[in-house]
Amino acid sequence: ISSERKRKAKGSAAEASTGKKPKPSSAHQTEEAGGWLEARVATLRRQARGFKFNHKRVSILSDVQKIKQGSQGVVYWMSRDQRVQDNWALIYAQQLAIEDKLPLHICFCLVPHFLDATFRHYAFMLKGLQEVAKECSALEIQFHLLHGSPGDTLPGFVKDWNLGAVVTDFCPLRETLQWLDDVKKGLSSDVPFFQVDAHNIVPCWVASNKQEYGARTIRGKITKLLPEFLTELPAVDQHPHSSSKTPKPIDWENTLSSLEVDRSVGEVDWAQPGTTGGFSMLESFIDQRLQYFATHRNNPNVAALSQLSPWIHFGQISAQRVVSLVQTHGKNREAVASFTEELVVRRELADNFCFYNKKYDSVQGAYEWAQKTLQDHAGDCRKPLYTCEQLEQAQTYDKLWNAAQIQVVTEGKMHGFMRMYWAKKILEWTASPEQALSIAIYLNDRYSLDGCDPNCYVGCMWSICGIHDQGWRERAVFGKVRYMNYEGCKRKFDVGQFERKYCSKKP
Ligand SMILES: Cc1cc2nc3c(=O)[nH]c(=O)nc-3n(C[C@H](O)[C@H](O)[C@H](O)COP(=O)(O)OP(=O)(O)OC[C@H]3O[C@@H](n4cnc5c(N)ncnc54)[C@H](O)[C@@H]3O)c2cc1C
Repeated sequence: ISSERKRKAKGSAAEASTGKKPKPSSAHQTEEAGGWLEARVATLRRQARGFKFNHKRVSILSDVQKIKQGSQGVVYWMSRDQRVQDNWALIYAQQLAIEDKLPLHICFCLVPHFLDATFRHYAFMLKGLQEVAKECSALEIQFHLLHGSPGDTLPGFVKDWNLGAVVTDFCPLRETLQWLDDVKKGLSSDVPFFQVDAHNIVPCWVASNKQEYGARTIRGKITKLLPEFLTELPAVDQHPHSSSKTPKPIDWENTLSSLEVDRSVGEVDWAQPGTTGGFSMLESFIDQRLQYFATHRNNPNVAALSQLSPWIHFGQISAQRVVSLVQTHGKNREAVASFTEELVVRRELADNFCFYNKKYDSVQGAYEWAQKTLQDHAGDCRKPLYTCEQLEQAQTYDKLWNAAQIQVVTEGKMHGFMRMYWAKKILEWTASPEQALSIAIYLNDRYSLDGCDPNCYVGCMWSICGIHDQGWRERAVFGKVRYMNYEGCKRKFDVGQFERKYCSKKP
């Protein structure tokens, strides 16, 4: 990847939220020139060689645990964590394969549709996977792209290649849990099936065994476990046992052009897909934006956020690696602490909610107090009322809201503070909380590169149904659910600047 592309990814991400070049940071002046991060990470990984794997990261999904006798390899079914390095599931799969002197395979099942994902998401994902495949070939790991749902494709693949164990990663969403069930049913009973939580720093099932009430109740549990889990990540090395058969060649261009997904939502140019792009964005965050994180993260006119959510969502970069690097290289303690709160506590709380609450995307999944208060106000007059189409096309009377909607449509990411305001206004302007929730989730999943994620469901449920929040002063429509308004935004930042920037970009 050319340094020009890297530079472009860094520059435009910062400009995406400020509209101007970021101020030079002191951190930037003390680090080496651009590109220092990946080299440093490679050294860290080498130093962590031989690091003991913590088996609490693994959940055994099969009755058997021993690799099938006479088999010809181990496969990591890559799903949520689409990266080679810093991936506990692949580290585990490689260890299993090495113990039995077997070849190592990775396979990815490309499903034709996933929730409201569009070409924007598929292109970002496939380009990231292309980088994965390239890295695999340098490491003697066989990468396979299977077309179809995991239940239909994976068990047959395991049988055809005579593979002796399957390792996969973890995602709490119902669609992916269903895939897991389907694969489990299809696998032969003598093939062990392991799941490794490679997304959370503290594995979801270790952090807590129940739905947590909020950040307040999970924070202590996670913090206590961090010394055990926020460890070094060893390198996935060149695999010592090669396969006698080679995978079917992948025509990436054809795969991309033949996707039958909605192409009306196109790619964005500021976010370079793949692990290299993710590291580049992380480097620019540490060098330039992190110093403003504690003080300016709620101001959408300032480049203070990491912008990392697309890469984290697709697992192209590991949250564990991100937080370790930020903690090591961040110079501003307050900024490092507030970033850790978002990336570790809030993000892992979202997985906790979706894992333990089957109704994670429904009003019925809210706390009783919130369901009651929303029900009490179900008959309140809502004026104006907008349709989903009017909202999608940013046709409200509120320029600030329209600007945020245009930001996500054109750039594939809305500023974190605006997301809260945006979703709460949808509650105010639609016929019912149920409708508000489904519109917010639909628009977020359709346009936001980091959509279709537990963070999306939790963000929308927090805004509309008060989850992980408390009751506030009762008012129309919202009841006791926290309210946000335009005047409040005006007190926090220059709303006119944000409106001017995005309203002029209306597609
Ligand atoms: C209505 C609504 C919808 C949302 N939808 C999504 C979504 O689809 N995907 C998504 O990743 N996040 C979502 N969020 C959470 C949050 O707004 C985003 O994670 C954040 O804006 C991503 O930008 P960033 O990476 O620059 O964040 P930063 O502020 O730099 O944070 C770094 C990382 O911490 C995590 N994080 C930050 N804020 C939160 C939070 N409130 N809850 C959980 N994790 C957090 C994310 O992984 C993020 O990438 C939503 C929030 C709301 C209110």
